[in-house]
Amino acid sequence: MRPPFVRHDPVVAVAPVVLDSPHSGEDYPAEFDHAPPRAIVRQAEDTHVARLWRSALAHGATLVEATFPRAWIDPNRALEDIDPALFAPGERWPGPVALTRKTELGIGLVWRLAHGGAPMYARSLTVDEVERRIAQCWSPYHDAVADAIEERHRAFGAVWHVNCHSMPAVGDVISDDPGRERADVVLGDRDGTTCEAAFTALVADAFASMGYSVAINDPYKGVELVRKHGRPAEGRHSLQVELKRTLYMDEATFEPNEGYARLQHDLARVAGRIVAHARDSLGALSVSGGHSNDR
Ligand SMILES: [Zn+2]
Repeated sequence: MRPPFVRHDPVVAVAPVVLDSPHSGEDYPAEFDHAPPRAIVRQAEDTHVARLWRSALAHGATLVEATFPRAWIDPNRALEDIDPALFAPGERWPGPVALTRKTELGIGLVWRLAHGGAPMYARSLTVDEVERRIAQCWSPYHDAVADAIEERHRAFGAVWHVNCHSMPAVGDVISDDPGRERADVVLGDRDGTTCEAAFTALVADAFASMGYSVAINDPYKGVELVRKHGRPAEGRHSLQVELKRTLYMDEATFEPNEGYARLQHDLARVAGRIVAHARDSLGALSVSGGHSNDR
């Protein structure tokens, strides 16, 4: 098994911008005995997302991507979001449990349901095996994202984090909007709490000016990674970006479609604007006597 994440550092001068792609991993462990066919389980993936955003490296951004699949363990969930129904009666989760709407939908830390609502497993899980998934995948991924964000924040005094995802074009039964067609791009800042308003507005404008429809906090507000890292008062800005999968791939076969190259090209432009915004903001900070940019 490969390491649970890959970190790509920029090939040009480093910018205070970190991207992470928690759901695009495709390395399915041999012992993953999911019940539905692999093509159904793979609907949990944000296939291609890390590859689509990789051009951000040329602008100075750092990219961390997970290699393990989201259906194995979901790094965009808190450890407390663990569904007791996964375990046999008598097995008790030793840590704290704080269930969210995601677990109610069957898609908490370890997914109980697959796309379409079929059970993910034909058996109960053990506490041991879930703890192993946390130790081998969830924790190393969280550490890698936190390290990248900390390094940039320490060097620059502020950091802009983009949490990169994709979404089905239409909600299914394990979503909050079954049957509804989504916008091309959904930005999530947990109702304005995980980044400065100007960052959300800038990214919305970057996409809208290229012809994409953009929704904000609807239906996705952002989950664990932006919640954990977004502290705008400390100069830590985290924004979740969801791309509609039909912009770039066939949802049934996972093959890139005719829109893939255009989206990849447009994401490079969005990344360029994010980096420019970050550098402008730092300039304004040092002029106003805030953090300087001397490293
Ligand atoms: Zn995702």
